[in-house]
Amino acid sequence: MTQTIWSRSILHLDIDAFYVNVHILDHPADAGVPLVVGGKPDSRGVVSSASYEARKLGIRSAMPTSRALRLCPQLRIVPTNWSQIRECSHQVMTILHTYGPVEQISVDEAYIDLSERAEPENLAAEIQTAVFTQTHLPCSVGLSTSKLVAKVASDHEKPRGCTIVPPGTEAAFLAPLSTRVIWGIGPRTAERLAEISITNCGQLAKADSHQLRAIFGKHGPAMVQRAKGIDKRSVHAERSPSKSISQEWTFNRDVADESVLAQQLQKMCASIATSLQKKNSQLIQFMSNFAGLISQPSHVSAVSRSASIMRKRFCALPTSYGKIIGKQDKHYDYWVWG
Ligand SMILES: [Mg+2]
Repeated sequence: MTQTIWSRSILHLDIDAFYVNVHILDHPADAGVPLVVGGKPDSRGVVSSASYEARKLGIRSAMPTSRALRLCPQLRIVPTNWSQIRECSHQVMTILHTYGPVEQISVDEAYIDLSERAEPENLAAEIQTAVFTQTHLPCSVGLSTSKLVAKVASDHEKPRGCTIVPPGTEAAFLAPLSTRVIWGIGPRTAERLAEISITNCGQLAKADSHQLRAIFGKHGPAMVQRAKGIDKRSVHAERSPSKSISQEWTFNRDVADESVLAQQLQKMCASIATSLQKKNSQLIQFMSNFAGLISQPSHVSAVSRSASIMRKRFCALPTSYGKIIGKQDKHYDYWVWG
């Protein structure tokens, strides 16, 4: 049997329905039922995470829990247990660090560079099993030669998927999939691509780069490359598992006033700064997630009540400086100044 030669091997791991499965660890009777982790419906709560049983009924993250309840009157709604979420995330990342350099993307998602390891195909299954055996949390993994394809692969057969896309098969793997699987292609770009009869990655990979450049600028040819599975980004490894500090706030009424939103964000940033200083830690990445925003200023056109805006940004410098400013740009993109 010939052995596959991997020029690079990158694994993407994502815990399946993370918040839900963390809850089930302590509440095994809740397994297998339509369940969401989220805020209360009478206080404008939104769904943070939905069980697969709830997803089958059309319930999704960022949906108001009141709407989710209308879709499924017997829906079980449980609060987020932040300390347990953080603890489980830390456990998972600690396991991953034993296999190779890790880049943590969120509480439940990471890339591991397995390029230095032999037989990465076997390791993919081994890592998946190790995470489940040691934490009782199910996960999906994807292995390929790039971050892009590994991430698409881990999402391919969720839950508990293990999808391996060997070198040379990346483009064929992506070909039948929607252009939306490519990072950087959101609903509006996908719509514009569909207008020129490009709906899947295979069509995008064969598209005329010049035509796409005329429509999308330099983003056009870059999309063509990605549709072929070409993505040179490397895994940005950390020395140790990063820890996250969260702040969450739900308004109990509709808020359309940007200054009120900005003011609340400032308070949350200040509180995070205090926590960082107490722990003698520094912030390296800032993530904001606006779910269910009712505010629709003219420059934010696509925000609806059930939408979620996620923004992630590395800080210019690690910081625990008290003057953490929630600075707002035209896309409600906030970040931290060192
Ligand atoms: Mg996940």
